[in-house]
Amino acid sequence: MMSQSRTGFVTGLRCVACGKAHPIGTPYTCPDCGEPGILDFEYDYPSIARRLSAEVLARRSDQSQWRYRELLPIGDDSALPPVSVGGTPMADAPKVARHLGLASLLLKDDGRNPTGSLKDRASALGVVKAHEEGCGVIACSSTGNAASSLAGMAAAMGLRSVIFIPEATPEPKLAQLLIFGATVLRVRGSYYDAYQLCERTCREVGWYNRNCAINPVLVEGKKTVGHEICEQLGWNLPDWIAVSVGDGCTLAGLWKGIREMKLLGLLERTPKILGVQAEGASPIAVAFRTGAPVQAGAAQTVADSIQVGVPRNWRKALNAVAESGGAMITVSDSEILDAIGYTGAMAGVFAEPAAAASVAGLSVAVTAGLLQGDSSALAVITGNGLKDTRVVRSIAGEPFDVAADGTGVQEILRARDLLG
Ligand SMILES: *Cc1c(COP(=O)(O)O)cnc(C)c1O
Ligand SMILES: [Zn+2]
Repeated sequence: MMSQSRTGFVTGLRCVACGKAHPIGTPYTCPDCGEPGILDFEYDYPSIARRLSAEVLARRSDQSQWRYRELLPIGDDSALPPVSVGGTPMADAPKVARHLGLASLLLKDDGRNPTGSLKDRASALGVVKAHEEGCGVIACSSTGNAASSLAGMAAAMGLRSVIFIPEATPEPKLAQLLIFGATVLRVRGSYYDAYQLCERTCREVGWYNRNCAINPVLVEGKKTVGHEICEQLGWNLPDWIAVSVGDGCTLAGLWKGIREMKLLGLLERTPKILGVQAEGASPIAVAFRTGAPVQAGAAQTVADSIQVGVPRNWRKALNAVAESGGAMITVSDSEILDAIGYTGAMAGVFAEPAAAASVAGLSVAVTAGLLQGDSSALAVITGNGLKDTRVVRSIAGEPFDVAADGTGVQEILRARDLLG
């Protein structure tokens, strides 16, 4: 499937279930374990360390995620999509920090990617590999962002995309898919149903499957958010990093990126990872609490991007949380909606529900005493609020309707305490 020169410093793949090593080119999951045998790329870190230092990185002018290419399964001459993925800004949010009772809070705004979510990091790498393998069609099933991101990156790379979406996909995400020219199959059923149908179809017709959980390439793309956070903060990370969890690939990727920078000797100290799930879709958080294996369950939350009842990558996610010394917690839908409101009003960052769950998680963790009040924290804003304005309109309120001659304007401004 993949040749050595096209995978850079990759040494092989390891199964997260049985621990067995497999050669480069093993398709998707572990041949011994089947679907639970998610694979993980391994690299020749000593060689990478000889090539990649803080100084070398500082001299690179490319701000996109390809600046970390030695840490990705690509070769020096891999063809890359001509859109800029990664290099997203970091915002200091002191007012939100005070509101939550934290010493400081940074927001890593990954909603500022080309199609508005962190998923672009994974999809960009997915289309690079699909293109290299000569697959003209790339497919995925998604609650929204993986799909819109794949459709956008495929369009940029000149590939066709086929997307399986569940019925509950928000309208703006659907609009993105259609505009990017994807063939959209709306499955009458849940995300689980869409996932199964996509996988079956890919197997039957030989398309490249972008589903993050089973395709180890995708998590590698998500790692770059971890690389970038380390470099942007001058290799000095906060006590905690919060991120929301659906399948678990984003958290796993974030942690792998950070751990790699530690392995390369660029980081002194790693942060604790706070994985945040919605109360109504929390199988991984439940497994963290009970120590039992993840049980499939129902999934119901306003945060459509993390509405995952049958997570695929829970092993990687739970290993990452444990290795970091962190924790998994849950937040309610109303805590998520609140967080969208105060993050927008106090920091000017508009997060979609699944993204604001990370901020809500920090709030809940402080209240629960899991985080000390003098902690420094960072929340990964995984998707832009414009992705789904319908759910926030219920909390955002309504505009004041006024006559064109200005009658009543003064009263409104006075009532809002805007007249000094
Ligand atoms: C996909 C997604 C997540 C969760 O990522 P997983 O890999 O499924 O855990 C969180 N937030 C947003 C906005 C997403 O699109
Ligand atoms: Zn295995």
